[in-house]
Amino acid sequence: MAPARGDLGVLRAHNRRVILNHLRRLGPVSRTQLVELTGLSSASITGITAELMGDRLLTERSVGEAGSSGGRRPILLDIDYTAHYAVGLKLREDRIMAVLTDLSTAVLAHVTEPLDGHDPHEVASQIARLCKALSRRARIDPTHVIGIGIGLSGVIDALQGNVVHAPLLGWRNVPLAPLVRERTGLPTHIDNDVNSLAAAERLFGHGKHSAHFLTVALGRGLGSALVLGGELHRGRRGGAGEFGHNVVVPDGRPCSCGRRGCLEAYTSEPALLSQFQERHPDLAPQITTVNELVTLAEGGHDGAASLLADAGRLLGTHLSYLVNTLDPELIVIGGEGTRLGPLFFDPLREAVRARAFDGLADDLPVVIDAWSDDDFTPWARGAASLAVQCAFDFGTLAEGAGMTHLR
Ligand SMILES: [Zn+2]
Repeated sequence: MAPARGDLGVLRAHNRRVILNHLRRLGPVSRTQLVELTGLSSASITGITAELMGDRLLTERSVGEAGSSGGRRPILLDIDYTAHYAVGLKLREDRIMAVLTDLSTAVLAHVTEPLDGHDPHEVASQIARLCKALSRRARIDPTHVIGIGIGLSGVIDALQGNVVHAPLLGWRNVPLAPLVRERTGLPTHIDNDVNSLAAAERLFGHGKHSAHFLTVALGRGLGSALVLGGELHRGRRGGAGEFGHNVVVPDGRPCSCGRRGCLEAYTSEPALLSQFQERHPDLAPQITTVNELVTLAEGGHDGAASLLADAGRLLGTHLSYLVNTLDPELIVIGGEGTRLGPLFFDPLREAVRARAFDGLADDLPVVIDAWSDDDFTPWARGAASLAVQCAFDFGTLAEGAGMTHLR
């Protein structure tokens, strides 16, 4: 019996994504290689790749000159990263950083603005204005924008596009994605900003070949995103990965979450700066930024250097707990806090290795994805990845997103 028409549609969508994901991971390959890689028949590969080329998602290229034997140049297929676009926005309580990217999340235009206010309708309207401004700035056809991704700090219900709780914006249960979708007509995806960084790492970054990895974001706060079995693990309410709020000192230093003694309150950038200023009041007027603190430490100031080392060791110890729990292939650390340098990260790596159980971390790469100073582009690119990943994902987020361009 022939499969029902609906089943064929699902099967075709699945096979399109199988092909796109092979090309995303491996780069250009021939049709013959695709047959071997996917197990699909060559007739299927020919049909589906023709369809993907018609949708401007695939492109053909002939590579290199003909060999000395004078044979035909091989035709390779690659994703056409340049024919579709995404908008990514990092939302902070005081400003919005927005980028327009191609399908590889390469930035074509960017703009940063103060946030007009915290009223969700105003924020949605500002986002809609920014999307138009970015299309004009990049001189692209706005009908080729496949979607919008928004990353912000807080607990997010990504499936519903709902901000469950964003303390810095004072939001509870704000349906941000539907509000933006109403104004732009574009599929809109929101997620916790650390999850958006993990989306970028998973698609085109260090996590491209890993099924199990942790992305840690260190800066004003501390959080993590867990990719397990190739999927982002969100937990019951979207709160998975909030290890920065593990209590390390009961009734200890105040934390941004309103409680006391969290790991973040000892290891985030503001926490390091305030601890230093409390311990060295004589230097407090001079050392007012994290860069100044790091420079002082690297110049040989014992108090500054030991503060960084102790904090790095503490964070490394907590990462070792995550290693014992999840046994990842890779840890990627990003965020503004990557500027803390080797005085912080060497003890961190040492603690991960020394404290993980029975060699679990012996050959575990801990990659520091260094950011330039006060550069919010990686956050916004991460947010764009939330839209781009719909072209590649099989799950409900992709299916439910109304990706008319990408079927
Ligand atoms: Zn906390």
